[in-house]
Amino acid sequence: LENMCGITAYLGSESAFEYIIASLILLQNRGYDSAGICTIDDSGTFINNKYASTKDHTAIELLQPYGKEHTDHLIGIGHTRWATHGGPTDTNAHPHLDNEAKLALIHNGIIENYVQLRAELEKRGHTFKSETDTESVVHLLSDARKENNGDLAAAMRKVCQQLKGSFTLLAI
Ligand code: GLU
Repeated sequence: LENMCGITAYLGSESAFEYIIASLILLQNRGYDSAGICTIDDSGTFINNKYASTKDHTAIELLQPYGKEHTDHLIGIGHTRWATHGGPTDTNAHPHLDNEAKLALIHNGIIENYVQLRAELEKRGHTFKSETDTESVVHLLSDARKENNGDLAAAMRKVCQQLKGSFTLLAI
């Protein structure tokens, strides 16, 4: 199975959105059906925009006008998606947020045990918005971060041990 999505991130002293758009444009020749960018503002609010391409516009074109909502945000992640689980829709596009909107995640690959993970997470009270294999990971990460005193890197290492399949993951 060819799986050629693109993932990118920015952390620095300039507008994350502009850098991320530029890298998504470089990545688009890998092919994609949807794209999204999430940045965090000064107050810790996550600004997430994600779209599937339409007949008239690529998803990257649909994202570009939202730059003004991301001005001066210094950290962000961006994704071009090739749908494997869940159709190419705005809702299924990445980044995916946790239920508190305090975590955003993008993923390249396939989570093979997502059906089981999703059932367990729903039992624990997490609400899913998409049909993707990816969304389970952001909910797992949200719980793991709480169990690791807010340490996102430690949480990510724990979560990766629970995943089967192929995955490159980026979270903020
Ligand atoms: N399996 C994930 C999805 O369908 C990621 C696909 C990709 O690598 O773009 O959402």
